[in-house]
Amino acid sequence: MIELSGVCKDFLKPSGEVHSVLRNIHLAVAKGEFVSIVGPTGCGKSTTLSLIAGFEPPTQGMVRIRGETLQGINPLAACVFQTENAFPWKTVIDNVSLGLRLRGKDKREAYAEASRWIEIVGLKGFEGHYPHQLSGGMRKRVALAQTLIVQPEILLMDESFSALDVHTRHLMENELLKIWEETSASVIFITHDLEEAIALSDRVIVLSAGPAATVKGDYKIHLPRPRNVAEVRFDPAF
Ligand code: ATP
Ligand code: MG
Repeated sequence: MIELSGVCKDFLKPSGEVHSVLRNIHLAVAKGEFVSIVGPTGCGKSTTLSLIAGFEPPTQGMVRIRGETLQGINPLAACVFQTENAFPWKTVIDNVSLGLRLRGKDKREAYAEASRWIEIVGLKGFEGHYPHQLSGGMRKRVALAQTLIVQPEILLMDESFSALDVHTRHLMENELLKIWEETSASVIFITHDLEEAIALSDRVIVLSAGPAATVKGDYKIHLPRPRNVAEVRFDPAF
């Protein structure tokens, strides 16, 4: 589904010097696979995601989606960014329903579906609020609902749950797992929490410390399906 072969990414520093962020990344993610990426801060995890999303091209190498070289924005991918996705001038329900409206759904249908997602992410009652009236964690939940509502084939998540309290985080992780099982989306999940990566993923990819990070490890995790993070985390036999 997603294939990075020999991918390198350089940025130019203001001084004109070349900053090599990624070097020779080989990575393949199958349809329906849940892969986490971990690695030290600044090593290039978000950069890897933005190459897969097609926000920028690799300096060298190839990103292929369903066998085709990616040129421009990846139409199959949706992202939950490290920073928030919501438009500040739109209410929660307008933000969440936007993806469906852009895909041509009428307002009533889009609102009905958005209400369902708002409830799933635990924000029922906040439909008419604007993003600045919500806490950081609540805005993350809006971002998640905004992304999941379009049921993307490729879901790119960048530290999406890092600002949430433990209880909400487990709820959201389980919602994500359910949606993933239902839609068989390919998920790439960036986290700093190795325990979270292991509890959710089929595989954990470790990027080496930057600069010029490369794939340092690729670990298969054997987890039962359907998955439940609480069981995985608290099962003493695991
Ligand atoms: P974190 O865990 O802190 O989020 P990360 O692994 O996601 O870190 P990236 O955001 O991918 O790291 O950044 C990797 C490196 O690339 C950093 O040194 C950063 O300064 C640099 N970088 C990222 N985007 C750009 C850009 N658009 N222009 C120049 N340098 C960039
Ligand atoms: Mg990052």
